[in-house]
Amino acid sequence: MNNVFVYCEIEGTTVQEVSQELLTKGRKLANKLGVDLNAIVAGSGIKGKVEDQILPYGVDKLFVFDAEGLFPYTSAPHTDILVNLFKEEKPQVCLLGATVIGRDLGPRVSSSLTSGLTADCTQLEIGDYDDKKTGKHYDNLLYQIRPAFGGNIVATIVNPEHRPQMATVRSGVMQKAIYEGQAKGEVVYPEVAKYVPTTDYVVKVIDRHVEAAKNNLKSAPIVVAGGYGVGSKEGFEQLALLAKELHGEVGASRAAVDAGWVDHDRQIGQTGVTVHPKVYIACGISGQIQHIAGMQDSGIIISINNDPDAPINKIADYVINGNVEEVVPKLIKYYKQNSK
Ligand SMILES: Cc1cc2nc3c(=O)[nH]c(=O)nc-3n(C[C@H](O)[C@H](O)[C@H](O)COP(=O)(O)OP(=O)(O)OC[C@H]3O[C@@H](n4cnc5c(N)ncnc54)[C@H](O)[C@@H]3O)c2cc1C
Repeated sequence: MNNVFVYCEIEGTTVQEVSQELLTKGRKLANKLGVDLNAIVAGSGIKGKVEDQILPYGVDKLFVFDAEGLFPYTSAPHTDILVNLFKEEKPQVCLLGATVIGRDLGPRVSSSLTSGLTADCTQLEIGDYDDKKTGKHYDNLLYQIRPAFGGNIVATIVNPEHRPQMATVRSGVMQKAIYEGQAKGEVVYPEVAKYVPTTDYVVKVIDRHVEAAKNNLKSAPIVVAGGYGVGSKEGFEQLALLAKELHGEVGASRAAVDAGWVDHDRQIGQTGVTVHPKVYIACGISGQIQHIAGMQDSGIIISINNDPDAPINKIADYVINGNVEEVVPKLIKYYKQNSK
């Protein structure tokens, strides 16, 4: 009772990375709260195939719902699994990926249970809360932290009265790590028909097209990111050359994507991808909060900018004050020379 739950997404029998990232975070939250970490997975023919992808992240109890019709994902059966299980288990926290599935499932579950849900959280913490209006004090609430009002503020959202406290988090925002401590690792296989009425299976997926990611931006160790200061598509070709030399990937700010110089799937930030590379080279990027939200946890940040007061310089470890079109070819030239 009152445990932390993570809904694990699958593709066939493969547990998605975002779910493993959330399990890692969920374990930390559960430890802080002194409760168990539970996980739910639902699919077809998954028994014996998904447990090893979930338990190592510190799960105390895993609920595996295995039945025909549970994969590919459709809204009704998965919603009923969570709603009916949560009526029994009464979790205090539920985390889902801010994915196509999580964005469909989360609101359905939260509205059925009249709980709250915060989408696209960038941080999750446990803390106390004093309601100034009622004078009530609450211990150990889930702080659901995310940019708000167009990203101009970072809001901490709490849900004092309703349970579960639900949050979605995008892929790549949290980092996954196998749990080093001891977890109970119990696995149960509930009878699916007890949770899902047959009418839920009315929607059948006839055809499905899944496109693999075209780049490795999310897990690249080095990212060469360009902004509006890169100035053109040709400028981005230079960044691609530098990225190739460094065995990295090209990223971009939204302004560069909007200008049509680079594909949208390379956008980094609040409405793009979150990256944690060892080295992040920001070329002609001013460093607005919405961009920084997606790269601030990079190991070393190098900023190339012709404005010495560009906001990104404040979080950069190294600043190269100059024009991208002059600095980048020099970086390529000297890197080539020195790496021979
Ligand atoms: C709801 C919302 C969500 C958003 N989500 C995102 C997001 O996910 N990702 C994102 O990036 N943005 C996002 N934005 C947009 C964000 O607010 C900024 O507008 C954007 O990040 C600016 O991009 P930029 O730094 O490339 O451009 P600019 O702010 O125009 O900065 C260009 C920089 O390049 C420098 N420069 C110019 N010429 C040169 C040169 N020749 N050499 C070197 N430096 C030069 C300038 O000094 C400046 O610092 C979002 C905005 C909103 C409202």
